[in-house]
Amino acid sequence: MGRRTIRLEGDPVLRRRAARIERIDDEVRQLAEDLWETMRHAGGAGLAAPQIGVSRRLIVVEIDPEEDRTLAAPLRLRLVNPAITRSRGDSSDLEGCLSIPGLRGEVPRAARITVVATDLDDRPVRLDLAGWAGRIVQHEIDHLDGILYPDRMLPGSPLLPVLPAGSRPHRSRRG
Ligand code: ZN
Repeated sequence: MGRRTIRLEGDPVLRRRAARIERIDDEVRQLAEDLWETMRHAGGAGLAAPQIGVSRRLIVVEIDPEEDRTLAAPLRLRLVNPAITRSRGDSSDLEGCLSIPGLRGEVPRAARITVVATDLDDRPVRLDLAGWAGRIVQHEIDHLDGILYPDRMLPGSPLLPVLPAGSRPHRSRRG
């Protein structure tokens, strides 16, 4: 396979609750590779399987410490069946989505999260995340439940146009 087409808002696959992955096999590993390649090509910070039309619970995330000072090292995640087991605090920031091109909006989310998942070698993963990384992981897990970021915006909070490339901070990278 390789790079795949990113599904856009209006596509029913983005509104479906994705199926749990029961077994990590070559098909799942290939899906993770395709997601990774598609995210990289789109310049995204994260991507969830439904965004390439596959309704299964798999996400990828790539964030560098320059974008998120809560990170000591680059964060590169491929998470199977990720779930948030704990959330603390509140944080609001601008977000965009590769499935909703050209727009961004202010989205309230938890400030810190604990996430459990399985990696591609079928080992358990447990992560404590804050900052931009925590935000992107919450955004991607939402995709697995058919939730898009405008659903989480406060009533009356406007969708804004994306700034032109060049004037855009790193953190405006989308998921
Ligand atoms: Zn998104």
